[in-house]
Amino acid sequence: MNIDNITKIELEITSNCNAACPGCARTQNPDILEINSFTVDDLKRMFPTPRHIKDKRFKFCGVLGDPAFNSDCLPMVEYLTLHGGYCQLSTNGGIQNTEWWSQLGAISNRTKQLDVVFCVDGHKETNHIYRVNTVFNIIDRNMNAYTYAGGVGTWMFIVFDHNEYELPVAEEHAKRLGLKFATRTGMRNSIHDWVAVVRKKDGVQKRVITEEIVITTTGEKEHSKKDQVKELQAFINTYSKPNVMEMIVEQTPEQIKKKEILDSIVCKLVHEGEIFIASNQTMWPCCFLWDSAFKNKENILGKLAEYGTEWNSLKDKSIDEVLQHEWFDKLIAESWDPEHSKHLSRCIKTCGYKKAYQNEIKFTT
Ligand code: SF4
Ligand code: SF4
Repeated sequence: MNIDNITKIELEITSNCNAACPGCARTQNPDILEINSFTVDDLKRMFPTPRHIKDKRFKFCGVLGDPAFNSDCLPMVEYLTLHGGYCQLSTNGGIQNTEWWSQLGAISNRTKQLDVVFCVDGHKETNHIYRVNTVFNIIDRNMNAYTYAGGVGTWMFIVFDHNEYELPVAEEHAKRLGLKFATRTGMRNSIHDWVAVVRKKDGVQKRVITEEIVITTTGEKEHSKKDQVKELQAFINTYSKPNVMEMIVEQTPEQIKKKEILDSIVCKLVHEGEIFIASNQTMWPCCFLWDSAFKNKENILGKLAEYGTEWNSLKDKSIDEVLQHEWFDKLIAESWDPEHSKHLSRCIKTCGYKKAYQNEIKFTT
């Protein structure tokens, strides 16, 4: 594999953020979070020629930060669009000033190679409950500046129990701004409740107090493939290696199930030509395994320790070099098998049954 086989690159250009969403990895792991950002010069080093950029999609998102927090975000978008790349930015919309958003909107309008996904989970009364620390009026101001300058994009709304009643007003607002409108369902939101710590003014004593709000997702708002993911999790929890006789005599039901699940994996790297670049400039096949590396889930760092610490660093290696590393080139696909020494069950959980775990997005306009 080399960069010619890659069609989509997710960029986590910073691990910094103004918000504190309760379901986010950065909010849940403050003790291990390192703040890293890369610069436009770092980006140019990683993508040095039009061959690295032209006709590829760059998704500015990530696991640990909001791209608008990076002060080099605008020049990065300029550089990539100038060389024929398509950029999409996902943001909570609550950072930067109107001048910044106008410039971004102008790039979108001029190049037709950029759109923004505003992750706004509610309207005036509820967005701050999940997007803790964001201020709706600032987001509204920024969305106005971006769209007034001709920028195109989407208002993406995660529907929880507490914000469902504001869906119609948000959809109407998106229409006025000229944004598309979509709802998003995340599997984690359907499995877990979150607790948000929200600050608000005490009406009587006129001081700022904090309040804990439980965030739930129930009924039709839940992810439609929750049962498939439970099935994958049950397989992960109970799978045991076949003994010698079972291997010789016949395929056991468990081995048949294993084959069915492994055949159903759709991998961002292997099948979809995607890579992920983390804020510390390490390269991963996807956001899922970067999230695992950040938290050292399933001892992923131990399983990759034999390669040293810099084997996937784009500070001193090219994307081609990392793609040709044996883990990317061969072992990721081989290790979907639970019997492989580098197996990571996350691959089964997030990508089995044709990505049943992954977000469901429905556009309404
Ligand atoms: S806006 Fe994004 S990066 Fe920031 S806390 Fe929320 S989910 Fe995490
Ligand atoms: S979790 Fe595993 S199977 Fe899924 S995209 Fe990442 S590397 Fe591929």
